[in-house]
Amino acid sequence: MKKNIHFTIPYSLLTLGRVREGFFLFFLSLSFICMAQTKDGFSISKINDEVMARMQGKSFRKGCTVAREDLRYLTIMHYDHNGKVKRGEMVCNKAIAKDIIEIFEALYDARYPIEKVRLIDEYDGDDERSMQDNNSSSFNFRPISGTKTLSRHALGMAVDINTLYNPYVYTSGGMQRVEPANGEPWARNRKKSRNVMIMTSDDLCVRLFKQHGFRWGGDWKVRKDYQHFEK
Ligand SMILES: [Zn+2]
Repeated sequence: MKKNIHFTIPYSLLTLGRVREGFFLFFLSLSFICMAQTKDGFSISKINDEVMARMQGKSFRKGCTVAREDLRYLTIMHYDHNGKVKRGEMVCNKAIAKDIIEIFEALYDARYPIEKVRLIDEYDGDDERSMQDNNSSSFNFRPISGTKTLSRHALGMAVDINTLYNPYVYTSGGMQRVEPANGEPWARNRKKSRNVMIMTSDDLCVRLFKQHGFRWGGDWKVRKDYQHFEK
């Protein structure tokens, strides 16, 4: 009996020590994983009451068919066109929230210039005003410009980047139209040397969105929507 106790106790202590060490290593690795998941200044959260109040009657219009629970509020860090670090906000569908964070983290690492990332509600949900200000945004419950069809932005499944320098160019009634109106000088001669924010097919932002399974409006044949990425 004594012999048994003599051998059992040290073994139990040894096991306990291993379990503790195991837990310690587990939590240590967990904290590293958490750190790797989102960088400082990048976050994903549900739409709280304060954000909802900002969106109400603007991007979240009357008759909005998207559930608040399906949207996410993101904070992102980005470099502007002057190389200054800025904090941006975006609302998108929860289905693409992780993609958007990963894309913006990679753009931030590369110091890719993005002038503004503000909620479109700061422009009263007016897409033209937001684009004229070169703002990048996602969710806005609205139809595709000039149609009654809901845009992928209405579901928060599309993102527009550096909108002034990457306008939406299409023909309507035999006339070429450019949105935003002040984006006309950037509709043709789309060489990056003219402006660093012009997105071409080999552009880092375009490549990152495509890697995450998005379609780019710059690839479309009839209508060119250079600012637009959608899933
Ligand atoms: Zn768009």
